[in-house]
Amino acid sequence: MASIPYFQFRGYPAGLEAAVEAALLEAVASKHYILGKQVKTFEEAFARFIGVGHAAGVGNGYDALVLALKGVGIGAGDEVVVPANTFVATVNAILQVGAKPVLVEPDAHTYNLTIRTAAKAVSSKTKALLPVHLYGQVCDMAPLLELAQEHNLSVVEDAAQAHGATYRGQKAGSFGDAAAFSFYPTKNLGALGDAGAVVTDDIAVAEFIRKYRNYGEVQKYRSELVGVNSRLDELQAAVLRVKLQHLDELNVARQKLAQVYLQELQDVGGLMLPYTAPGCGHVYHVFNIRTAPRDKLKQHLLEQGIGTAIHYPVPVHLQPAYGFLGYKQGDLPVAEDLASTSLSLPLFPGMQAEEQERVVDVVRKFFRR
Ligand SMILES: *Cc1c(COP(=O)(O)O)cnc(C)c1O
Repeated sequence: MASIPYFQFRGYPAGLEAAVEAALLEAVASKHYILGKQVKTFEEAFARFIGVGHAAGVGNGYDALVLALKGVGIGAGDEVVVPANTFVATVNAILQVGAKPVLVEPDAHTYNLTIRTAAKAVSSKTKALLPVHLYGQVCDMAPLLELAQEHNLSVVEDAAQAHGATYRGQKAGSFGDAAAFSFYPTKNLGALGDAGAVVTDDIAVAEFIRKYRNYGEVQKYRSELVGVNSRLDELQAAVLRVKLQHLDELNVARQKLAQVYLQELQDVGGLMLPYTAPGCGHVYHVFNIRTAPRDKLKQHLLEQGIGTAIHYPVPVHLQPAYGFLGYKQGDLPVAEDLASTSLSLPLFPGMQAEEQERVVDVVRKFFRR
C-alpha cells in the first residue's frame, strides 16, 4: 500500500503550479531582482487580504518577529509575555531584541495564550504580549487587548500558522500593533523557499521595517539607522502573489479535511480532538490530536506507512539551549503535558479522500485493540 506522508506538495488547486511557474518566469524576465514590483504588489495585496494598512516583506518568519518587536519599540530590559508551547522562533525573537521572554501556560483547550495566565505574568517591566495563533486558530484576543490597554503594553501577534484565520470576523494579524507572518513552504501560504512579512496599521512601524530590512536605507547609500539585510526576495514575492489568490480555497480544503477527521474520530475513546472556540475560524495549519499513548500511536501509524509530526516534542523551557532562562520540569505542566501527548495527523491541500479514510481507519483500529 502506498505510504501517506505527513505533508506533501500537491498540484492543488488545478492550475496553481502552472500559474506559479508563469509568475516566476515573468519575475525572472523583468531583470529586477531586489525590492521591485513583485514585492510591492504582494505587500499591497497581502495588507488588503489581512485588512490592515501596511505589509512589509522580509526574509523569513523569525525576522518578521524580530522586526515587529523592534518596530513597536521592544528592547533591552523589557519583558514580553509569550505562551510556553510555541515554536522556538517566537522566544528567540524576544531574546534577539534583548528582551526577556516570560513563558506562560496556554489555555488547556485551545492551546493558545489566555488572559488567565497572561494577566498574572504582567509586571512593571512588561512591555508587550506576544500571542501565538497556534495550529491556525486565533487567540481569544478581546480580553488580551483589554489587558494590553490597561497596562499600556504593545501586542505583537505571531501569525505564522494562521494566514486567513479569523476571530469575530477579523483576520489574524489585524489585532495587534504589528503581526509577523512566515511563508515557509509548508505554511498555509508558503513560498518556494524562505519568506516572511510584518503587517501593521501603523505607518511609522511599517516605515521603520522598510528601512531596517534594507540596511536602514531611505535611498541608495543613505542610511537613517543601523539595519540588516532581511528583504523579501522578488521571486518569492512573485510566487506568494499568485498563491495568495488561492489562499481562501486552500484553507477551505484544509477545513474540509479537518471536518472529516472531527466527524470520523469523535467517538474514539482516549483521543482529544482539536477544539475551536466560539467566534474562531480555524485554518488547520496543524490538525493536532492528543492521547496518552502518543508515542505508541505514532509508531503504529509509521508501521502502516502513515507519517505524522509532533508540534512540539520538547517545550521551549525544557530545551537544552534555554536552561539559562531558569525554568525546570514541572514549572509549566500544561505545556509539558501538551508536549508529551500531542500528535499531528496528515492534513494538506490535495490530500485524497482514500488517504484520509486509511488514516482514520488505522487510528480507530489502534484504539479498538
Ligand atoms: C514557522 C513559524 C515561525 C518561524 O518562521 P520561519 O519562516 O521558519 O522563520 C515562527 N513562529 C511560529 C509559530 C511558526 O510556526
